[in-house]
Amino acid sequence: VNRKRQVDAIVFGDGPAGTTVARCLAALGHSVCISQREQRTASPNARWETLSPGALELLRLHHEEAWPAIERLVIPCRATVLWTRDDARKPAVHRGMLVDRRGLDLILRASATAVGAVAIHRDPLPLSRFVVDAGGRSSAFPAPRSLLGPRTLALTARIAGSDLATRSTRVESLADGWLWAGRGDDAHATVTLFLSPRTVRSWPHKEHPTHFFEILRSSSLAASKSASRIVSNIVVRDATPAATATLADSGIMRAGDAALALDPLSGQGLQHAFVSAAQVAIVLHTMLAREESSALAQEFYRARHAEAAGEHALSCRAFYKRQDRFNGEFWRERLSENSLPSLRETRSTTLDVLRQDKLILSHEVRWKEVPVIKGDFIESEHALCHPSLMRPIAYLEGRVALDMLAAVSGEITPRALLQGWAERAPWGREVGLRALQFLVHHGILLPAGPRSGCQSEAALPLSSTSVGTGPSFSTMARTTSA
Ligand SMILES: Cc1cc2nc3c(=O)[nH]c(=O)nc-3n(C[C@H](O)[C@H](O)[C@H](O)COP(=O)(O)OP(=O)(O)OC[C@H]3O[C@@H](n4cnc5c(N)ncnc54)[C@H](O)[C@@H]3O)c2cc1C
Repeated sequence: VNRKRQVDAIVFGDGPAGTTVARCLAALGHSVCISQREQRTASPNARWETLSPGALELLRLHHEEAWPAIERLVIPCRATVLWTRDDARKPAVHRGMLVDRRGLDLILRASATAVGAVAIHRDPLPLSRFVVDAGGRSSAFPAPRSLLGPRTLALTARIAGSDLATRSTRVESLADGWLWAGRGDDAHATVTLFLSPRTVRSWPHKEHPTHFFEILRSSSLAASKSASRIVSNIVVRDATPAATATLADSGIMRAGDAALALDPLSGQGLQHAFVSAAQVAIVLHTMLAREESSALAQEFYRARHAEAAGEHALSCRAFYKRQDRFNGEFWRERLSENSLPSLRETRSTTLDVLRQDKLILSHEVRWKEVPVIKGDFIESEHALCHPSLMRPIAYLEGRVALDMLAAVSGEITPRALLQGWAERAPWGREVGLRALQFLVHHGILLPAGPRSGCQSEAALPLSSTSVGTGPSFSTMARTTSA
């Protein structure tokens, strides 16, 4: 690439997030460079990670041509969870998917360059309108990070002779942390211990392997075999969940772990990397093609980012809370240090919706304009806000919520509502019923009656500028499930 040439974007980082941003932007017709670090000697050992079903779907969506190669790489496995006392009696076994990150990252790099992204390995860098930081946890762009949980270290080693079968993974709570183990078809298992830095600091210098091994021996992995041994160096990485304080300062957009590094316990790191990468690509596409929508596009990403961080911290907290085998400091600090808001109880109404004579829209419903993804752009759309919702809803089963609820003025029978929807949208009865149940479940539609409270004027969808006081997580999705 010639230095004088200006490209639309340079992406720093060639992991899952960087390659996906580059691919999506290039596919939308933009000139993109992807800056890669000098090739290190390729490791002969697999780098196993679990792939969530959501991550797999996103790979298929964003790396369409590479999908057959990705599919060949993914290994179905048995995922055992030994987290609670109940699990200790009878471990929960699920179906999961393992992927070797060495192979996956190579395929994703090829997928980005196949649609026109240009890989650059060293200076000179071209001039660029936008810079994307997708450098992961080790990003070279310094930024203040807010921690979403206590500091955690991940210590990874390869183990011979463990009790882990081929094509299986294990998540297990331990006295001072937890472990993740994975094994493909090879002879060795990969084991990662997640510990407090305090624990690791207390180990005498050069005695890490001894202490690593001692912890391993206290786990179910050593249950039936005593001949297990460490056959690699121990790699220490930071695994603290953290978010950057700002996303778009000095024109830099962050994607993947550089924006939000999740707690590995969630098993959602890759999924989040693909989601945020696709969002960054659409935000930049909007900013490049419709400069006047730049602020809206950035607002969209900021809101999605805040929402993802909040939801992640809440769900991890719930998972840590379920652990009841140990009560050491590692576990106590993961429950106490979290100062995030707890989920507000949603109103769970289990009414038989079709048996209701009449329904009315709750007087607590408000409408607010929020940025949403429409096609390949960020645009503004009316969204429904209600205290029982974590975030405003712009779409109901893929249709604009305002269009679907505009007919609800005053009392209406469930059947009339379903019929009205069927005339507006190609919804089958099942989809209409699902939407209806969602609205009733959340108290957005209430049974009409003396005790239901009146629908106020403010509850009606007003003009396009009507704004209400929505929930604090004010962000929008492409579609909102009902
Ligand atoms: C111990 C551990 C276990 C995990 N296990 C799982 C799991 O099982 N499942 C799961 O879904 N997630 C897991 N995760 C999370 C997952 O690994 C990350 O979320 C994911 O890799 C994020 O992708 P990324 O592209 O943002 O960053 P990375 O994968 O870190 O990729 C960033 C790349 O950019 C390169 N880079 C950095 N700076 C520059 C620069 N200036 N120029 C050029 N290149 C640069 C880096 O060398 C790196 O190759 C785990 C995380 C940890 C810490």
